[in-house]
Amino acid sequence: MSSTKPRVVGAPGAQLVVISGPSGVGKDTIIRVLKERNPDPNRQYVITYKSRDRRPGEVDGVDYHFVSPETFQRLADEDAFLETAKVYDQWSGTPFDQVADALQSGRDAVLKVDVQGAHAVRQKVPDAILIFVAPPSLETLSGRLIGRATESEDQLQRRQSAAASELASQTGFDYVLVNRTDEADATAEEIERIVAAERARHPRRQIRV
Ligand code: ADP
Repeated sequence: MSSTKPRVVGAPGAQLVVISGPSGVGKDTIIRVLKERNPDPNRQYVITYKSRDRRPGEVDGVDYHFVSPETFQRLADEDAFLETAKVYDQWSGTPFDQVADALQSGRDAVLKVDVQGAHAVRQKVPDAILIFVAPPSLETLSGRLIGRATESEDQLQRRQSAAASELASQTGFDYVLVNRTDEADATAEEIERIVAAERARHPRRQIRV
């Protein structure tokens, strides 16, 4: 997707943090822990657009913005997304304005994107901090997806067969964290440490999106 948007330069120190990893590894769970533990006003959890139906328990406008495929396409045509990815026949898009607003006002922007999306963000924003969340094993990942019970049999199989290649595409990430069983809190804490360490190391870094 080529953008016609003017580039935006973030305030010094504001960071773009990308949390990625295969479906079912625990990204949403970890972000929920981060939000609960650290309702930090200096951080914007960017709400992704999805062209799929809501799952039970998901709240529109809180977990994601759920839109029709037509609306998604219109937004994409209007250059509303920093990146889009089509995975399992569903589109995901990171809204450009939420990211730009956060960075310009000096807040960190935290994105949750699939592995494809993370590579797309890297292409556009070389200074983004890319964190890959990995499962303890493929079997564990499969067990989490089955346990979540949100996918049809067909969707589940597609996610399971994509998992091995997603796990193999950790190249290009800055950090790889294993989300150990029943230790999502520890994974969230590790992410907090990474974000703090990156800020300490690059206090004046200005992110361009
Ligand atoms: P993702 O957002 O990466 O697709 P989810 O956060 O929806 O993954 O997690 C998938 C399933 O795994 C959920 O049922 C969740 O409760 C469970 N889960 C997440 N993290 C852990 C963990 N550390 N140990 C055990 N189960 C977990």
